[in-house]
Amino acid sequence: MMGSGGGMRAGRGFMTEEEKANAPKVTGALLKRVFSYLNPYRGQMTLVFVCIIVSALLSTMPSILTGRMIDEGLIAGSLPTLVKLILLSLAVTLGANLIGVGQSYLNTWIAQHISYDMRCQMFRHLQKMSQRFFTSTNQGEIITRMTGDIAGVESVITNTFSSILSNISTLIVAVAAMYQKNWILATIGILVVPLFALPTRRAGRTRWTLTREAQACNDEINGILNETMSVSGQTLVKLFTREDYEYGRYQEASQKMIRLNIRERLAGRWFMVAVSTFASIGPLLLYLVGGILMMRYNASLTVGDITVLVTLLGRMYGPVNQLLNLQVDWMRSMAMFSRIFEYFDMPVEIETPEHPVTPREYTGAVRFEDVDFSYDGSRQILDDISFELKPGRSIAIVGPSGSGKSTLVNLIPRLYDATGGKVLFDGEDVRNLDLTFLRDSIGVVTQDTYLFNGTIRDNLLYAKPDATEEELLNACERANVMDFLQKQEKGLDTVVGNRGLKLSGGEKQRLSIARVLLKDPSLLIFDEATSALDSISESKIQQAINPLIKTRTSILIAHRLSTILEADEILVLKDGKIAERGTHEQLVRSGGVYTELYETQFKPKGLDRI
Ligand code: ATP
Repeated sequence: MMGSGGGMRAGRGFMTEEEKANAPKVTGALLKRVFSYLNPYRGQMTLVFVCIIVSALLSTMPSILTGRMIDEGLIAGSLPTLVKLILLSLAVTLGANLIGVGQSYLNTWIAQHISYDMRCQMFRHLQKMSQRFFTSTNQGEIITRMTGDIAGVESVITNTFSSILSNISTLIVAVAAMYQKNWILATIGILVVPLFALPTRRAGRTRWTLTREAQACNDEINGILNETMSVSGQTLVKLFTREDYEYGRYQEASQKMIRLNIRERLAGRWFMVAVSTFASIGPLLLYLVGGILMMRYNASLTVGDITVLVTLLGRMYGPVNQLLNLQVDWMRSMAMFSRIFEYFDMPVEIETPEHPVTPREYTGAVRFEDVDFSYDGSRQILDDISFELKPGRSIAIVGPSGSGKSTLVNLIPRLYDATGGKVLFDGEDVRNLDLTFLRDSIGVVTQDTYLFNGTIRDNLLYAKPDATEEELLNACERANVMDFLQKQEKGLDTVVGNRGLKLSGGEKQRLSIARVLLKDPSLLIFDEATSALDSISESKIQQAINPLIKTRTSILIAHRLSTILEADEILVLKDGKIAERGTHEQLVRSGGVYTELYETQFKPKGLDRI
């Protein structure tokens, strides 16, 4: 309704073309939704409104009292009246200010609670979003919505909502008080308002455009910082000796920022000159017309009345200015709300069904029945995959890079759902199982091990928060982390650094094996690192993983012969299809894809003949 109606008209001058185009349709449904967040705080909001109105009334009183001080105190020569009025004026001002403090407190309290509600709702919702969402959405954008947009909403509630009400009340009280004094002067005063409102609108538009440009420039600077100051970015810059280039980019963006900031501040200066010139016209006119009325027409007007009218006119400037700006604020806040709601409305792709089934046995068995998969609905990544992994057995998946190995295993813990066919876990379709149960039953050691910045202990406890010291050490022992731990002065309390970057690739992978061991899953998925590890690290990982494969159901995405040989069956994947399957001996002699992979990748060096 405000999108194209009367409300839009007031702020048109401030909105850029782009903003107008992007302005959300402020529908009844949107407003209802926005207000549904305010609803739990109805009581507090009513109190805020009362405070605003009382404070508007009280803060207008000193201006009126000034008139009486002049007429009844100064001109009438009565000192006691003067003192009485001064004290009264002081008390009223103090009262208004105290109410103002209470109002700010309440306002902030409400805004903080509403933004807390939204933040938590957003966090919960984002946690439910699928892997697809996180791989296709820019991480910066997610963070902006979580922080920037919600902080924006917070300021809307603290500022915009109360500002509308408080400005309107101040204006009404001021206008009423002016008319009560003298209607001619009141009308003149009001007619003068557009004189200062117009330059404000113009300057506001310029400033707004410049602010947006400065924001874009700031984003660019942040982007450069993000790219070059992250650990991997820094390494890339160093290795390609791009320091000067990056510095140049940074310098250029920063210089642009200087120019924009200077222009913006100056636009503000011109604006002040215009506004203060026009603002002084109002009172001067009131003095002139008031004087004429008093001296020529003997109107029942006192010096005090004219002073009151001038003071009241002064009190109108602020609210009128702010109300003119509010239109943009309002549209901007509605845009923020819409952006947040857009996220809330994104359907949760993968969730526990309403009535999950419980498997009869917890064995970690897996079966793929004619499984197809596509990320984008057009390019087929997995094509008609069928295989069975019996309890306690192990399967190695091999295949050229990009053949779909990781995609295949991601379907088991439902990071994605198959687009065709069925994936069964413990004899049940994974889509019928409780998601927490399913994911708790599967331990994945990924290729790209993710450790968060903390100690080794923190990282291990993530899998099992109540693990005892003994369990931790036992897991480390079995994952072959012990010799590394013993070399560390602080043992389990060694800090692993940003994303575990203080550890070697082999150490990280062994730690993540220990982490999975603590979880004690019924199915183990091991995505072997493709990156070359030295033979000592490799054999340490092998020693950690081999006993595991023997004792539990496992799937290994294998890149090394030693791992492949541990598996009971090998599936060879090519272009998303199972090209071959069997044991190493069978496959290596078949002369197919596996033989080729063996020759190029797996064959131990120095072995020319099979
Ligand atoms: P590697 O051995 O190199 O890890 P892989 O066999 O595990 O390869 P996948 O990671 O399963 O291969 O990828 C299979 C195909 O799917 C690739 O062509 C890849 O480009 C594509 N792909 C992978 N992840 C996504 C994604 N999130 N969105 C779209 N396409 C993807």
